[in-house]
Amino acid sequence: MNIRELEQLIHNVIPKHTAESWDNVGLLIGDTSTEVTGILTTLDCTVEVIDEAIEQGINTIICHHPLIFSGIKQINAGGYGNVIRHAIKHDIQLIAMHTNLDNYKYGVSYMIGKQIGLKAQTILLRASSKLCKLQLFVPNDYTSQVKDALSQIGVGQIGEYSHCFYTSEGTGEFMPSSSANPFVGKNGEVHYEKEMKVECVFEPHLKQQVENVITNVHPYETPAYDIFEYDVPAEYGTGTIGIVDRMTVRTFAQRLKETLNIPSVKVIGDLNAEVSSVSIIGGAGVSYMDQIVERADVFLTGDIKYHEAHDLLMKGQIAIDIGHYSEYVMKDGLKAIIQNMLPEIKVIASSTNTNPFKEV
Ligand SMILES: [Zn+2]
Repeated sequence: MNIRELEQLIHNVIPKHTAESWDNVGLLIGDTSTEVTGILTTLDCTVEVIDEAIEQGINTIICHHPLIFSGIKQINAGGYGNVIRHAIKHDIQLIAMHTNLDNYKYGVSYMIGKQIGLKAQTILLRASSKLCKLQLFVPNDYTSQVKDALSQIGVGQIGEYSHCFYTSEGTGEFMPSSSANPFVGKNGEVHYEKEMKVECVFEPHLKQQVENVITNVHPYETPAYDIFEYDVPAEYGTGTIGIVDRMTVRTFAQRLKETLNIPSVKVIGDLNAEVSSVSIIGGAGVSYMDQIVERADVFLTGDIKYHEAHDLLMKGQIAIDIGHYSEYVMKDGLKAIIQNMLPEIKVIASSTNTNPFKEV
């Protein structure tokens, strides 16, 4: 399997287009034609992580935080350039799965939830995606032909069902002009024709192909159809929400330290309050504060600053800062997802601790 095939496989499940627009995901370093000798999953890509891959005979690293993000002006022996040079010198391929992995239904926040024993998890802030609806008017005898051609390009796919159409019968009427070349009817006379209205949905990227099919397969010189684009709830989004057995914030915070294996957490709010519902946004999720307030008894994220903590207090939202590094659980979580897809390939979760903070 080469990198191109690997990317196709993983992005089929965790698509690149679900990443935030400001992000930088996909193959950051390497060559798509390189054969994959093994995969190392990591939160951050550092020189130590690259050395770990080399020692393991692995040439592909999948990191969560993109090594190449913004502001890299030189690739020299200092700073991030040094890491990039180290990867290239040893022919290490680097793939970033950042906000696309965050937004995946079973992504980073879900993985943290699983680690802390959160039950009945669902997406906290569901994204919306676009869908197109086609209504097309076809003479009765041509209905199956048009539906078949549309099905072949992926129109009428809803979840696990293909060939989804609704047809209703009616009468179309039209008057061809003197210069028209009508399939039925006479120039200058109103014509009535038994027609079917065919309704179906399709992904917006198919729009041009749909129009091509209509032009090529529909018998009329000027087919009548409408395409509407609308928003639908997506199967991906930010964060997770679920439940735990009822306990005090103090007990819950203690348990977080144990289950996440971290030395401390910071609690904002009443330690004696009771919690049973929990929302999580892995990494730095406090920018979603207004959208998550009151969704759950307690909100978990990392990187909460002093004034943001005051904002949370003002809003009455109990929150616990579990540190950005709590995202490290994605190493094992992503390893399991990829190993499941590729049982033949050696997949290892990095054992390198890339937390820049040391607690004393
Ligand atoms: Zn992060």
